Amino acid sequence: MAGAIAGTAILKNLSPSKGLKTITLTINNDCNLKCPHCYLQYGKESFLVGELTINSIFNSDFEHLAIVGKEPFVNKSSIALLEKMVEKCYLKNKSVSVITNGIGLTNLNPSVANYLDYIDVSFDGGKGTYHLYRKGSFDKIIDSIYNIQSKSNVTFNALHTLSTGTINNIDDMMSVRRFADFKIIMFSPYLNTLHDGKNDVSIVQLEEILKRLSQSTDFVETKESLLLMDIYHTEQEGVSTETLKELMSFYQLDSKIKLIEKDPLNYGIIRVTYDDYVLTPYESIHPKNYTKSPYLASGVNLNQVFETMQNAFS
Ligand code: SF4
Repeated sequence: MAGAIAGTAILKNLSPSKGLKTITLTINNDCNLKCPHCYLQYGKESFLVGELTINSIFNSDFEHLAIVGKEPFVNKSSIALLEKMVEKCYLKNKSVSVITNGIGLTNLNPSVANYLDYIDVSFDGGKGTYHLYRKGSFDKIIDSIYNIQSKSNVTFNALHTLSTGTINNIDDMMSVRRFADFKIIMFSPYLNTLHDGKNDVSIVQLEEILKRLSQSTDFVETKESLLLMDIYHTEQEGVSTETLKELMSFYQLDSKIKLIEKDPLNYGIIRVTYDDYVLTPYESIHPKNYTKSPYLASGVNLNQVFETMQNAFS
């Protein structure tokens, strides 16, 4: 579930950074789905990020803004704010991306889509299993993607989380590429996280994940597909990166796996939440602890907070 931290944004810049590079933002606390693996279950619904938080973000020296949740296209006010932020990024020469479940994509203005670097769509299924797992309409999402692709230049990526709820559906998840163009089809293992809700799925052992992926001809032979794993996954399972690398070789998946061996904080990533908290990437995957953060974005300089977080970490 490394995708939970920044989506595919983490793939864009994997050189260690002493400065702030990527801010991931939960723009609101609303969603139109209830996915069995959702980690963003936290606080009350119906909150949108405020002006002071946004000002603090734009007063910092970030390079890329990844709007990661809860669901940016959930309603008109969220879409209006998203479009405003995307345009501001464009005017300030910053890159910007969105992670969405795709349900409300039909409301994205294609001219604003042109300002986006890319859009990550979280699927966790294809035509055969999406509706069973996410209980939404796969066809409707594909239609929206097709519509935006025909009117803008924005590229799309597909995200899939591998858990007990999806591990049997890898070929169906790969089948999304038959319905629309995706630059990247990224899988990531489900992580146990601390939040206010309940998940109906569990982790799958890393070796089992590698075995299943190696058995999928579609996954192995499609150049767009990859598995993203990070130190949170190895830590969760108590395996070293060396052991993981041996398993990757054993299953002949070295070229298909992007292993993030350092904490994502090293790559200049932080999270800002709709309710103003500033978090390290690790803190961002445990919503139950968000309120323990000593930093509120509206009252601080985010460059300095990032520096303090990195110093504390090292
Ligand atoms: S779409 Fe994302 S935020 Fe919404 S329920 Fe699913 S995992 Fe959670």
